[in-house]
Amino acid sequence: MLGFVLFLVLSCNAAEDKAIPLVINTWKFTEATERAWEVLSASSNALNALVAGCSRCEELQCDGTVGPGSPDESGETTLDALIMDGENMNIGAVANLREIKNAIGVAKHVLLQTEHSLLSGSQATDFAVSMGFQKESLSTNQSKKMWENWRNSNCQPNFWRNVKPNPKSECGPYSPIKRNDINSCDKRMKYNFNNNNHDTIGMIVIDSHSHIYAGTSTNGAKFKIPGRVGDSPIPGAGAYAENGIGAAAATGDGDVMMRFLPSFTAVENLRNGMQPREAAKNAIDRILKYYPDFTGAVIVARYTGEFSAACAGMKKFPFSVRRNKQTNVQVIEIDCELSN
Ligand code: ASP
Repeated sequence: MLGFVLFLVLSCNAAEDKAIPLVINTWKFTEATERAWEVLSASSNALNALVAGCSRCEELQCDGTVGPGSPDESGETTLDALIMDGENMNIGAVANLREIKNAIGVAKHVLLQTEHSLLSGSQATDFAVSMGFQKESLSTNQSKKMWENWRNSNCQPNFWRNVKPNPKSECGPYSPIKRNDINSCDKRMKYNFNNNNHDTIGMIVIDSHSHIYAGTSTNGAKFKIPGRVGDSPIPGAGAYAENGIGAAAATGDGDVMMRFLPSFTAVENLRNGMQPREAAKNAIDRILKYYPDFTGAVIVARYTGEFSAACAGMKKFPFSVRRNKQTNVQVIEIDCELSN
């Protein structure tokens, strides 16, 4: 596989290029890009291409952060996924999906078989079973071990605050501390965000007629509080698409990102005339204004095929691209410190 991957470090402007069809996704998830491209080339069906690409990442458990094998506080893995059709603004999404491996496949059924946009939790599982999916455990030997290690290190890190016992040194169960004891200046914990505890495949597919689909799939944040839903299944946060304008998809600290709808913002920025790089950077900068320690990234593509990305909280952010007239997947790295 790696033999087919071209690796590039480009300046932001050089990363902009024209050409559709286009498949672009977050991180070095090149097998997902390749899979989506194969389906797009064979069928010209951008929806099937997006589902095939993200499903590939779920099967591969890309970075351990897509698909099965990432424990929450109770040891269970739950999944978030989203698909948005840029032609009619239809959405299919699942959040906190339990016991079903192919979250993006279930999102496709929400898109096509229902008038709803987002199903969650055990009832999303029931829906998936009724659509023919198999119920199975999403735990793996590795996730069981991770969870045991986490318990043995006093449940660190975790996502609690203003509770007793002290969540920085002890496991729960927790209860709220008195109102007067709450420190409102308390800064958001700097979650040690890296490829092993966080990531999402966010993918944009544009077919040769400029029909755009955008989507995401992730298991969210390791050791999340059960019930937590990240940004990935939230339209405008995890991904957004509109034919004739463009699309965006995000990865990073989703609890913060969903407060700013960065994918929606980036697409609005394209609509208002910004270039993809500027559109992405503005979406990230709006978050940094309030959360200077934020870690995350947004990929952006115009409907004509120019694309770029912006990132924060890491040195470089890699994303994967396959487009017209290109014989292989490219990995492009954006330098997060570039100002333009
Ligand atoms: N955005 C995802 C979440 O917070 C994780 C990630 O992309 O790193 O659920």
